[in-house]
Amino acid sequence: MLLLGCHVNYKKDSQILGCLEQALSYGATTFMFYTGAPQNTVRGNIDLAKVKEVEERMKKEGIDYKKIIVHAPYIVNLANNKEEDKYRFSIQFLKQELKRCEELGVSYIVLHPGSHVGLGKSVGIQNIIQALNEILEESDVTILLETMAGKGTEIGSTLEEIKEIIDGVHDKKHIGVCLDTCHLNDSGYDVSRFDELLDEVDKIIGLDYVHCIHINDSKNPISFHKDRHENIGFGTIGFDTLISIIYNKRLENIPKILETPYVDREFAPYRYEIEMIKNKKFDPQLIDKIKKQV
Ligand code: FE
Ligand code: FE
Ligand code: ZN
Repeated sequence: MLLLGCHVNYKKDSQILGCLEQALSYGATTFMFYTGAPQNTVRGNIDLAKVKEVEERMKKEGIDYKKIIVHAPYIVNLANNKEEDKYRFSIQFLKQELKRCEELGVSYIVLHPGSHVGLGKSVGIQNIIQALNEILEESDVTILLETMAGKGTEIGSTLEEIKEIIDGVHDKKHIGVCLDTCHLNDSGYDVSRFDELLDEVDKIIGLDYVHCIHINDSKNPISFHKDRHENIGFGTIGFDTLISIIYNKRLENIPKILETPYVDREFAPYRYEIEMIKNKKFDPQLIDKIKKQV
């Protein structure tokens, strides 16, 4: 089965059940969500009855629960310890977030490694390693380090930096990688030759560490360090390249998640993009269709 999903909204009332229903309405076979607002750390209680219902519904649909992904809020920053209380807060919050993943039955959480904010890369990387070792001590959830675009002082925009972090983490079973096609492009990797890039990932990090792929087109040319996602086929990466990544045999069992932008900030593109991907044929009218919701 094609493991193709998208970002969905976790709402206070419907929780993970709402996520699943949203994903199924888009024709997705997996999904990713923030357990609350992505830009803050306010979190509510988890309704375990809903978790159970989702497990049963997914079994019925033949979808693997283990491929659901949580994304950590992007305000946590493990690289910067200039202000000790903020650094401690990020660590404590992530510990809680991993507990929430356990309650939800989710195995993977995607994390932006962090920004060093002037401390320099090597100090930033050491801060990340130290934090991850503390966080993973108490948990069986796997943290996936996302490859970043290299905006500002972001760490993790090269495979070598990701590898350096993994090397420092004691619990190798619970650390992994999430490749983001837009970020790879923006950080300077040629995603149009993805098989060669996968060889490089395998050589530097090990392909076994990759457990999630974010499928996004990019608004910017290679190496622009911008991180602005574009709808599938409407950016600089292009439809054919993204299709070849989604259907790459080496990535068959890895969930692929769309994080493409809402059209006019209002209309979710995912149902349309997923259908277009399944058809393997680019539709230049897609944006209009999304706007008209036809
Ligand atoms: Fe991300
Ligand atoms: Fe991403
Ligand atoms: Zn991004």
